[in-house]
Amino acid sequence: MELLKRRILQDGKCYPGGILKVDSFINHQMDSKLMYHVAEEFARLFADSGANKIVTIEASGIAPAIMVGYIMNLPVVFVKKKQPKTMENMLTTTVHSFTKNRDYTVCISHDFLTADDRILFIDDFLAYGNAAQGIIDLADQAGAQIAGMGFIIEKAFQHGRDILIEKGIRVESLAIIQSLENCEITITDQA
Ligand code: 5GP
Repeated sequence: MELLKRRILQDGKCYPGGILKVDSFINHQMDSKLMYHVAEEFARLFADSGANKIVTIEASGIAPAIMVGYIMNLPVVFVKKKQPKTMENMLTTTVHSFTKNRDYTVCISHDFLTADDRILFIDDFLAYGNAAQGIIDLADQAGAQIAGMGFIIEKAFQHGRDILIEKGIRVESLAIIQSLENCEITITDQA
C-alpha cells in the first residue's frame, strides 16, 4: 500500500526501543480516508478466507476492524482489556504489552466467539506477536478457527510473524518496517 508507506515515512516518528509512533494518522488522530483504504486492502486480501467474523483487541485495533467489518459485511468483536462484571461466559488470556512493559488479562464473551466462528484478526501493529498469541489462545478455548491475521504495520525486526507462520496462520501486513535503527524508518516489500 503505497499511500500508507508514504504516510509512515512522512509522519511516523521513531522512539527508543523500536517503537514507531503513528499518532497523527492511526493511533490518536485518525485519518478516516486512509483507514478506509487500509480496510479495503484487507477486504481484498482476505476475500477468499472464509471468515465469518472480524476480531480485534482494544483500543487501536477497533478503528480498522470496524471498517473491514463494514466492507466485508461481517460482525466485529473486540477483545477487552478490562473485565466487565456483567460479562457472561467470559474467556480470558494474558497478553504482554511490550510498549507498556506489563501483562494484561484480556477477555471476550464466549457468546461472541464460538466453535462456529472462523475469525479474521485485525490489529494496528504486529511486533512480537503477543496480542496475536492471546487471540490464538482465546480462539482455541472457544473452539473457533482462525482464517487469517491482518496488520496495518508490521515491525519485521521483532519477528512476530515467525511465531504465527509456525502455527500455520496466514499473515498479511500492509506496511513492513525493516528497521528503525538510528531513528530512521526503513520500509521493505519483503515479508
Ligand atoms: P505485539 O503484541 O505484536 O508484541 O505488539 C502489538 C501490539 O502492541 C499492538 O496491538 C500495538 O497496539 C502495540 N504496539 C507494538 N509495537 C508498537 C509500535 O511500535 N507503535 C505503536 N503505536 N504500538 C505498538
